[in-house]
Amino acid sequence: MDDTEKDIFCSEKIRDSIFYKTRYTMAVCDIAPVLPGHSLIIPIRHVSDPVQLMNEEVVDMFNVLKRIKPVLSKVFTKGSDSYNLTAQIGRYSGMSIPHLHMHVIPRAGNDEFQHDNNKVYDMIEHAKRITTEEMASRVTLLKKELKRNNDE
Ligand SMILES: [Zn+2]
Repeated sequence: MDDTEKDIFCSEKIRDSIFYKTRYTMAVCDIAPVLPGHSLIIPIRHVSDPVQLMNEEVVDMFNVLKRIKPVLSKVFTKGSDSYNLTAQIGRYSGMSIPHLHMHVIPRAGNDEFQHDNNKVYDMIEHAKRITTEEMASRVTLLKKELKRNNDE
C-alpha cells in the first residue's frame, strides 16, 4: 500500500464529512469541533506542508476559505467577522495527521473562549467527537447554505 493512503484525509472515510469540494481542495466538518462550525480546509493531494503546494493549490485553498467563511459565520456566529485560522505543521508542532489541514474556527463575542483565547488551540486535540448523525446533519446544512449563498 502507498504510504499516502494511510491517513484519514487520503481515505474514503473522509467523504461523509466533506461539505464543499473543488478540483484541488476540500472543506470538511471537524469530527471533534472546538466550537460550532469548526471546519478544515484540506488539499486533496497528500502534502504535509504548504511549501509543497503548487501555486494553483495555494490559491485554491484560500479561494475555498473565501467561499466558506461567510457561510460558516452566517450559520454559526450570527455573521461575526471573527475566526481562528490555524495549522500545525511538522513533527514538533503538535501535528496529529500528517496531511496539511487548516482549521477554521468561527468565533463570537459570547463564545466560551472569550476569557482565554489560547484555550481554543489547546482544545483542538481534546474536543468531544460528534456522532455520525450529527456529522451528516451539519454537512447537509452547510451544503444547503452554500448553495443558497451562491444563488443570492
Ligand atoms: Zn494524506
